[in-house]
Amino acid sequence: MPHPVYFLDLKTTFRENRLQRIGRLLDRVPFSKPLVKKNLVAIKIHFGEKGNTAFVKPIYVRPIADKIREWGGKPFLTDANTLYLGTRSDSVSHLQTALENGFSFTTVGAPLVIADGIRGKSAFRIPIHQKHFDQVSIAADIVDADALVSVAHFKGHELSGFGGTLKNLGMGCASREGKLSQHSQTAPKVTRKKCLGCGECLAHCPQEAIALQEKKALINPERCVGCGACILICPQEAIRIRWNPSITVFQQKMTEYALGVLKGKEGRAVFLNFLIDISPACDCYDHSDRPLVRDIGILASTDPVAIDQASVDLVNNEPGHKDSALTKNYKSGEDKFRGVYPKIDWEVQLQYGEEIGLGTRKYELVILGEK
Ligand code: SF4
Ligand code: SF4
Repeated sequence: MPHPVYFLDLKTTFRENRLQRIGRLLDRVPFSKPLVKKNLVAIKIHFGEKGNTAFVKPIYVRPIADKIREWGGKPFLTDANTLYLGTRSDSVSHLQTALENGFSFTTVGAPLVIADGIRGKSAFRIPIHQKHFDQVSIAADIVDADALVSVAHFKGHELSGFGGTLKNLGMGCASREGKLSQHSQTAPKVTRKKCLGCGECLAHCPQEAIALQEKKALINPERCVGCGACILICPQEAIRIRWNPSITVFQQKMTEYALGVLKGKEGRAVFLNFLIDISPACDCYDHSDRPLVRDIGILASTDPVAIDQASVDLVNNEPGHKDSALTKNYKSGEDKFRGVYPKIDWEVQLQYGEEIGLGTRKYELVILGEK
């Protein structure tokens, strides 16, 4: 059975502006409103790295927070800290970046909470019993929330071809340990040339997995649990991720994490994809390149696979911008994501999402008419 995906295009009239239309879009989704009542509702968003400009803007989040409050819920905006060293790798810099990018109580009407603690150590393990993971490590406050509204910026992505709801859930809600386990199968690696032997990583490793040998750090892979703390703490940036050799494995792991995030939130999760400023790469970069196609609209659904499939199709139906990162596939109907990343098979996340029971690729686009 096709799953409904509600679509709001960007046309507005004097009768109803775009923000009012977002409220009406949410009213159309059969989200379990009674379950939201008096409950804590996590609005999972990417606040954007400092310097990035393509992330979903705070003004679009306000009507979502307003609608949750109207239904009697208590919304808060949230994300988890990043694995790599940047402007969102601990809660203090993360909140500072969010504020500088325009997210605050006054702009969105909801408090901001970084879901995995100041250093990314606050997480719960959720059993999922899948091919890659028996259990996954999810940011604690996202697990603790009673309901979840995922707000994803739909765009190209250098590892998964595109990034939408599945990525916002799977990678975005994972703890640092969880992010590392998706990206890598082994312990991080020390670049000996960069290491000054300061011992900071030893002091912060919860497993006592690091020792100094000839004044250089050495990681014992038998003891390492892949928490990622040493990557963040090293002042020399000498500790690096050993990236997964397979993009397919990475996408499947990310999809299993999405399954873990939604465990226990059956009937209490709704997903939105913003097809606006469709940049070629992740909002984790400190810049955003020109969009691949024109702005299209906003989608909402209760099926995370259906909404990403519908978003891919809508983008691919558009003619590509000649001055964008596209190197081919400019025509309507041609694959824009392979037009930027020819070697990445983005279908893996959708196929695998269907295989593990996250949702369906069959959807019915329900167009929200004008008022
Ligand atoms: S924190 Fe970095 S520089 Fe210091 S010992 Fe560890 S790897 Fe070497
Ligand atoms: S990833 Fe965590 S457990 Fe592994 S060496 Fe680094 S700090 Fe220790």
